[in-house]
Amino acid sequence: MTPYKSSSKIRNKKIPQTSNQQETIMDSPITALVPVEDSNELSNFVAPIVSCYNDRIRPLIDAVDKLRHLNIMKEGIQLPTIVVVGDQSSGKSSVLESLAGISLPRGQGICTRVPLIMRLHQHSAPQTELRLEFNGKSIATSESDVSEAINAATEELAGHGKGISNTPLTLEVKKNGVPDLTMVDLPGITRVPVHGQPEDIYDQIKDILMEYITPERSIILNVLSATVDFTTCESIRMSQVVDKTGERTLAVVTKADRAPEGLMEKVTADDVNIGLGYVCVRNRIGEESYEDARREEARLFESHQLLSKIDKSIVGIPVLAQKLVQIQASSIAKNLPDIVRSINERLSENLSELSKLPKNLTSFAEALTALMRIISSAKETLKNILIRGEFEEYKDDKNMHCTARLVEMLNNYSKELNQFSTKDSGENFLIEEIKILEESKAIGLPNFLPRTAFLVILQRKVKAVSSLPIGFVETIWNYLENIVTAVLMEHASNYHQLQLATKRAGHVLLAKMRKRSMERMMEFVEMEKLTDYTCNPEYGTEWNKLISQQESFVKQVNENLAQKITIVGYGEVEVGGLRQYEYLLPQAYDLRMRMTAYWKIVLKRLVDCMALHLEYSIDKLINEELEPEIVNEILGPGGVGIEKMLEESPSLVLKRDKLNRSVGRLREAKEVVGNILDRIATFGG
Ligand code: GDP
Ligand code: MG
Repeated sequence: MTPYKSSSKIRNKKIPQTSNQQETIMDSPITALVPVEDSNELSNFVAPIVSCYNDRIRPLIDAVDKLRHLNIMKEGIQLPTIVVVGDQSSGKSSVLESLAGISLPRGQGICTRVPLIMRLHQHSAPQTELRLEFNGKSIATSESDVSEAINAATEELAGHGKGISNTPLTLEVKKNGVPDLTMVDLPGITRVPVHGQPEDIYDQIKDILMEYITPERSIILNVLSATVDFTTCESIRMSQVVDKTGERTLAVVTKADRAPEGLMEKVTADDVNIGLGYVCVRNRIGEESYEDARREEARLFESHQLLSKIDKSIVGIPVLAQKLVQIQASSIAKNLPDIVRSINERLSENLSELSKLPKNLTSFAEALTALMRIISSAKETLKNILIRGEFEEYKDDKNMHCTARLVEMLNNYSKELNQFSTKDSGENFLIEEIKILEESKAIGLPNFLPRTAFLVILQRKVKAVSSLPIGFVETIWNYLENIVTAVLMEHASNYHQLQLATKRAGHVLLAKMRKRSMERMMEFVEMEKLTDYTCNPEYGTEWNKLISQQESFVKQVNENLAQKITIVGYGEVEVGGLRQYEYLLPQAYDLRMRMTAYWKIVLKRLVDCMALHLEYSIDKLINEELEPEIVNEILGPGGVGIEKMLEESPSLVLKRDKLNRSVGRLREAKEVVGNILDRIATFGG
């Protein structure tokens, strides 16, 4: 049997107690187990592993652990973390056990069901201190109870079945002889759900795993069983996805005792790209003690016919411990300056965001001031987009470029009116006029054009198009209501009650204005039906042009010269059936041409009036009616009362809480790293 010297003795011998600040962490000597021939020293055997206690690395590890404990990852700041991954039963928990020298739940099937953060902490007192932290609780436990305690905590976090959870559990191990290391043990990867496991267990585990190994600052400790072909390991496949070159992957090959054949070839061939190298180990088997397990491991690699050929620098738990300590130290030294910078940046970002949030209103006066400010800023926005045509506020939202959209709607309306009126195909030309003239005959001179005939036609025509102006009013006010509501909602967005009240006020006001517009439009239409009048000289010009062709038209029809005649300024018409009305023809022609010239005026008037009315309504809405309506909705009889405004919107409350929590967390984090900044300055370079 080969006994080992106690850690403290070795440490005292090997580590110079000078504190040469120029020395980098990587250069620090780290001791490992040293076999000693003197078997009488068995009583000195204290710890399963010996690692150096480096009083300069420890504060850095502590700082990182404190940051982890503060949940700084939630702020998007990644920490250097050693993540233990491996297929189910590859021996992850056993490796952690070996490193910590304590019993962990271990065995067949799924044991690790939540991320287990293990903080190993060398201390010189002989008794071991164990502490479990989860869900804000901190529970002291002992070496004999730790397995049970972990199982109980796991059940609390992940339920009684075989399901898994992403809420981590922290196990702090303060023990003489353990390496200063923090590692995360994750549930093992399993392809096929066992009885009682959710169907998507593989995806669930994969998600947790990916979350931990994707960040560049994570070190992947890939646990592989010597009994399997490494190229078929799921854990290798996953780590290769996030670390192709393997530069942050270290492999631990377990169960060396069970598959010694070809092991050396396997780790030297490196078929699976392990950048940080392999360490072959043999863990505790059955109820063995750690001491026995380490001794057996040492003996195995010393004397086994095949295993003894493997280079001593890549075998045994002590070597693994030493490598991990080095990797962790250099990763922390490399990353801490960036982490400190990120903490400071995040903190100032959050503080400035917090300062931009509206403050919580506490009095009537404050609420009133806020209300007035919101109304006037909403009015200003509405003026900009609806009247001035300035839309910088909504650069990318075309719907909010209102003046342009309104003109488009007006143009469409005008186009529709014109299209609707020119449906006349040239058939039945003058037939309607002739019929009306026949019916409006009266005793009197024959060559007077009866005005009633003209009015009857006018009324018919106006009636036919009257659905268009009405539809247009609907369209316009629907649009305006959307715009006004959107602007009000946005400006009142921090005050939930105010939002509701302004929305109501906006709705009531817009309905009122829509009704007014509708009445005005109907009036316009009725006015057009009642009288024919214009002072526009275009009417006369147009009519003269058309009536000048009257004589030739009548002549051509009466002498039956053509079936179709083209009237300049009007179009081609069919005249085949008109000869029989010889006597009414001139009047009918006159009637049609008057109407043609006049109708153009009517259509323009229907558009122009509407445009002016619209501008007038919008101006009145913004400059006169909006404010009293909102104030009345809040302060008037039956109003919600301004006190209601003091209640903030739930989303704002949440947002402010979240920011405050972040700021609190980041401030603490800043304090944590502040204390060690000068150390990093020495190590960083
Ligand atoms: P995990 O599922 O990856 O956490 O694997 P465990 O640590 O629970 O180990 C699975 C099984 O393999 C247990 O029965 C362990 O005792 C056994 N085991 C782990 N490491 C070794 C080793 O180095 N040698 C031998 N013989 N068995 C081991
Ligand atoms: Mg396990």
